[in-house]
Amino acid sequence: MKYDLETLARIPIKDVLEALGAVPARNGRNFHCFNVALHKDNDRNASMAVYERTNSCSCFACGISGTPINITKAFFNGDFKQAAEFLHSHFNIPTLDNNIVKQVKVAFTPKITKEKVYMIFDENKEYADIKVLDAYLSLYPRMSEAQKLKLIYTSLYRFSLKTNQKPKESYYLKRGITKLHLVDKIGFLSYNDVKTLEKYLLERFPLEDLIRFKLFSKIRNTFNYAFNIAVVPNFDLYSNMVAGFSFRSIDSSYKGAKEVNISCSDIVYPMPFGLENESLRMSKWIWICEGHIDLLSLRQYYENSDDVCFIAFNGVFAYKEEFLTLLKGKSRIVISFDKDEAGINGEKALREHLNLLRIPNLTARWDCVDGIDLNDLLCAKKLNTLTFDEAT
Ligand SMILES: [Zn+2]
Repeated sequence: MKYDLETLARIPIKDVLEALGAVPARNGRNFHCFNVALHKDNDRNASMAVYERTNSCSCFACGISGTPINITKAFFNGDFKQAAEFLHSHFNIPTLDNNIVKQVKVAFTPKITKEKVYMIFDENKEYADIKVLDAYLSLYPRMSEAQKLKLIYTSLYRFSLKTNQKPKESYYLKRGITKLHLVDKIGFLSYNDVKTLEKYLLERFPLEDLIRFKLFSKIRNTFNYAFNIAVVPNFDLYSNMVAGFSFRSIDSSYKGAKEVNISCSDIVYPMPFGLENESLRMSKWIWICEGHIDLLSLRQYYENSDDVCFIAFNGVFAYKEEFLTLLKGKSRIVISFDKDEAGINGEKALREHLNLLRIPNLTARWDCVDGIDLNDLLCAKKLNTLTFDEAT
């Protein structure tokens, strides 16, 4: 068999590394080296640098390096024949003598799985009340990823609070939320607001960060979402900064997704809407809703609800298991997802998680004839019919 070494050498090194099971690093430039056994403490995150000019790579931890053929040979413990045949077959490159190369199997190293870090509420941790965001702009280049993200997100959020809020208020009024102070923490962006916001953000932050933190489109370099949106914040647990949002389209003619969640939860985990330092600290119960309008409906109905912290997951699976331990120590957790298939499945999964974590929980029940969600019940004046039971 005559291997086509010239063609093999021209396979982009990134593609070769990926074929060998190396995982791209978060920055998109490097990879994590697959040669885990030779790294100190079996480090799965060791950095493998990629040099596009020479189509080669090099690991800082174990020192293996080279071109597509060399690195593949290293992967197959120095077996050149296996390496060449793997590249031929994987990339579907004919040999010089047109031999069919049999499939060479690669034993992949297991995917990197991060260890779960369960969240614990530290009541003694100092709460930071950040007032003037622009005062921090000069520090931006030296900030951590999490600090950058929160500064950008909070800038957008606070901008959305200063726009004309009338369309937002009339939207929530139509949904039966008549106590408008309940929507004070929700912002609003019209078409013109979005245009002004784009300039506002670009004057303050690098475009690449606005793209990386999912606010701007990589292709158009403009705001990546619809306009006429309510901006529903997810706060940081230990400050008044924002770590995520959901954008709710309040335009009934809009054809796209009604609601999108925006966050980079590998950088900062966004707390559900409604969960803030004080509400978590003061409450005895936690009441979990599927969407923020259900949450507002409950707050509209229950006058004195200081003992209860209402939170909205924005989707029945939009939480990490590690988040749930934050709710430990509360006397009750109530779940009130929609009574549709997704809601019922989500409720079942959530209750299983809570039970495993030994967190006491209840389900809110009602007659589905009156509606599938809590906002339906509010509008039908049936929130007084809710019952709670522990049996599933
Ligand atoms: Zn290595």
